[in-house]
Amino acid sequence: MQINGKAVESCGGEFFDIINPATGELIDQVPGGTKDDAALAVEAASSAFGDWAYISSQQRARVFYRAVEIIRQRKDALAALLTKEQGKPLLEAKNEIEGFAQVLEYYCGLASSSQGDFFKVPQNGYAITVKKPLGVCAAIIPWNMPALIMAWKIGPALISGNTLVLKPASSTPLTNLTLASILSEAGLPAGVLNVVTGPGELVGEALVNNHKVKKVSFTGESMTGKRVAELAVSGNKRVTLELGGSDPMLVCDDADLKSAVAGALRGRFYNCGQTCTAVKRLYVFESIAEDFIKKLETAIRGLRIGNGINENIDMGPLNNRRQWEYIKELVAEIEEKDEGRIITGGKVPANSASSKGYFFEPTLIVDVPGESRLLKEEVFGPVLPVVRVKNLDEAIKEANNTIYGLGASIWTKNLDRAILGCQQLNAGVIWINQHLKVAPEVPFGGVKESGIGRENGPYALSEYLDLKTIMLKT
Ligand code: NAD
Repeated sequence: MQINGKAVESCGGEFFDIINPATGELIDQVPGGTKDDAALAVEAASSAFGDWAYISSQQRARVFYRAVEIIRQRKDALAALLTKEQGKPLLEAKNEIEGFAQVLEYYCGLASSSQGDFFKVPQNGYAITVKKPLGVCAAIIPWNMPALIMAWKIGPALISGNTLVLKPASSTPLTNLTLASILSEAGLPAGVLNVVTGPGELVGEALVNNHKVKKVSFTGESMTGKRVAELAVSGNKRVTLELGGSDPMLVCDDADLKSAVAGALRGRFYNCGQTCTAVKRLYVFESIAEDFIKKLETAIRGLRIGNGINENIDMGPLNNRRQWEYIKELVAEIEEKDEGRIITGGKVPANSASSKGYFFEPTLIVDVPGESRLLKEEVFGPVLPVVRVKNLDEAIKEANNTIYGLGASIWTKNLDRAILGCQQLNAGVIWINQHLKVAPEVPFGGVKESGIGRENGPYALSEYLDLKTIMLKT
């Protein structure tokens, strides 16, 4: 836990274990935060707000630049820590740490560009708007991309002059705590960023309920998001919700099959399938389905599974037991109900039985019926359901048949089809001939049960700024 720039224990004196998901070994223990810890962190953030809001955005950016330099120097160690607690292969962990650095760098450049507007008002008047930071913000984040999502929150919040309390996921707080201490080392004043570890229902809710918290930015499951939104709205707070997704990938008969196979492989199995915008449903034209499935099967069979800390690993374990049990149970149910044909995978790898890790084979299931849980729920793991469709109209109809609306991709060389996909697919992000790609410059977020608001890009700054209007009579 980090409050007021210092590592502290919890008021309750409790600790909880952080387990390596590849080995089942204990890596570390962190303080089990309480409501009192959340309150102390908010007080620290509140005390730090005045001075931090007062200095220029360039001064704030200097802290970010120094932190980015340290992070790049320690990238290997940070990536190894992330792999140990999260399970992702080292290369993915390095990408994520670099992503953290790039997000902070992006906001340094943007910081001074966020100015107000000037208006000429009828009857000899003028008006200007100025933008003001909100005050104390709370950020509650998940375990799938703990470093990147931390950057998506603290980048725009802190550069705009807010202070923040971060609540990491309980299985992945170590990288978050280390990154927070690097920011302190880089000169971030005490109290500007505080990290409280502990259960979501306790620490998370205490933050959302605290009257000094002006904005809550939440990333996690849709159900948790609804609970957070209810509490935030009843306290009249701003709220951003980045929630679950069940992204469809549509492969047309004119698609470049080689790149579509590579896109599906990465889109589904990156981070062991635990990416909010992972390809969670694949719709392929029936005329090319056999060929596509064969090629995808070969590619999936080539994935190397193991402890991500080792060289040449393509896919690590699931992050936690709950997730692992869910995936095992879901696939068992699919087999029991005969909902589709498992082409490859479908079980815990034989050679991982002794490792105590949460491994599951990358799994391809074809001809899955529309009512299957595989197509209805957000499947956060390495299981890819494939459905054959007659044409693009049917693909779009099926793709939109979901409560979610985070991302969607269409794979085609035909511009008319690509445009139709962009117009008719109901999601916050549409990719053409790619999937998963995000960038600090580009707004990101979902529609329907996938969320409210946007992160990244210039727009994210406005999520952390209030407008004050000043009217002048001349
Ligand atoms: P989760 O909802 O279980 O937990 C997210 C965070 O909320 C954790 O820190 C948790 O401790 C906290 N929390 C739990 N209950 C709470 C409560 N009652 N009040 C306040 N906080 C509470 O989600 P998860 O399992 O950690 O993450 C996976 C989910 O996150 C998936 O649904 C995934 O799609 C989603 N996600 C979305 C995005 C996006 O940008 N849309 C990005 C990454 C992950």
